[in-house]
Amino acid sequence: MCGIFGIYPHKDAAELTCLGLYALQHRGEESAGIISRQGKKVHLHKALGLVSSVFNEKILRSLRGDLAVGHLRYSTTGSSNIKNTQPFYVKSKLWDIAIAHNGNLTNTLELSKELENRGALFQTTMDSEIITHLLAHSQKKDIKEAIVWALSKLEGAYSLVLMVNDTLIGARDTFGWRPLCLGKLDGAYVLASETCALDLINAEYIRDIEPGEIVFIKKDTIESIKPFKETKRAFCIFEYIYFSRPDSNIFCHNVYLARKKLGMQLANEFPIQADMVMPIPDSGVFAALGFAEVSKIPFEFGMIRNHYIGRTFIQPSQDLRDFRVKIKLNPLRDVLKGKEVILVEDSIVRGTTSRARLKTLRQAGVSKIHMRVSCPPLRFPCFYGIDFPTRKELIAAKHDLDWVRDFIGADSLEYLSLEGMLKAMPLAKENFCTACFTGEYPVNHTCHFSKTLLERSSRQST
Ligand code: AMP
Repeated sequence: MCGIFGIYPHKDAAELTCLGLYALQHRGEESAGIISRQGKKVHLHKALGLVSSVFNEKILRSLRGDLAVGHLRYSTTGSSNIKNTQPFYVKSKLWDIAIAHNGNLTNTLELSKELENRGALFQTTMDSEIITHLLAHSQKKDIKEAIVWALSKLEGAYSLVLMVNDTLIGARDTFGWRPLCLGKLDGAYVLASETCALDLINAEYIRDIEPGEIVFIKKDTIESIKPFKETKRAFCIFEYIYFSRPDSNIFCHNVYLARKKLGMQLANEFPIQADMVMPIPDSGVFAALGFAEVSKIPFEFGMIRNHYIGRTFIQPSQDLRDFRVKIKLNPLRDVLKGKEVILVEDSIVRGTTSRARLKTLRQAGVSKIHMRVSCPPLRFPCFYGIDFPTRKELIAAKHDLDWVRDFIGADSLEYLSLEGMLKAMPLAKENFCTACFTGEYPVNHTCHFSKTLLERSSRQST
């Protein structure tokens, strides 16, 4: 998880980047940063916190220049650390390099050892820093050759926006786990994690950066190369289920429509009668709309969300997470009292939020809760950038459906089938990574994952 953005050449580069980051805030609430380039000078501002608290007019005025790169960080447990914020900037003999990375590399242990043996000194525990060291160690004088060499060393997921000297670079790994799109505004090129960032600044969407593609933007020219051998595609299906904004088009298709279809499919698979269909806001809203449409049962908002609270799972410690669950949603007692409800949620991860919410609904007087989940049980960790840390924390990895139903306190519980989920997607199933549901990882090497797990404790994903 993480949001990335870049623009070049535009006289308001930093301001537009800040707006782009606003639109992408849901991709990471831990830190925000912008780097800009004015001639040979660079200006950088980054800090822990939301975009609105990290930037103000004065700061944005100081970020001068017509090239800017921005980043929002969501990190794994325990890494709230100013050092680990991005864009990460270093100056090597040949290059000024700034990197904004979304994804998770899976061979960082090997790479960092190799680089340390060659004398590299790491400043952070971010996997993204490795890319800057690879560039600096590449021995190539041509920027394209250096980038291709550095990226050829990487395994795992990356969507990248880089500033290398006066070139803005966008890149996506050959599997395409994380999204990245290209837009245009006033003659400038824009790179962004999701199209909602282009919409906000009135940029025109041009196309997605393709898996395995690297684009080099220099003033008003863009050059695209695809230097790597093609692999299968592995778009992250969880971007459609939960992570991306519903008003974005990712992997070339709209997220809202995909979520609604998941809900429709869920209603087809598990029809049931009740007084109302209600979502767990906001994550279950669009699937609940689809469910209600197919089942012809009225849609109601049984809980109202306080919009000034961020995503509950974003707070690293469990205590804080529980507290935020409570303050985020207030049940509508007059709507719920004595009612049998179909409660729709996008997914169950740890089960703790669902349990807390069902408890609140019971206290508000609902008579029966039929929980319907718009994806299959999550049973396997993600190594490519979604924070499903270990199997231990995934409730469905350890327990069967009846146990989970009793734990969360539902009268009935059903999950969408794997086939149903894939059927609801706007792209054919071969395009997706569904490893968190099936355990079938797109990259197949056995020792790889135990190493990765070790690695996660020291070097974190972005
Ligand atoms: P829970 O009931 O505690 O499993 O929380 C489920 C809600 O949190 C669902 O809306 C999930 O989609 C959302 N969520 C998304 N990503 C994560 C994550 N990495 N860890 C925990 N919850 C997540």
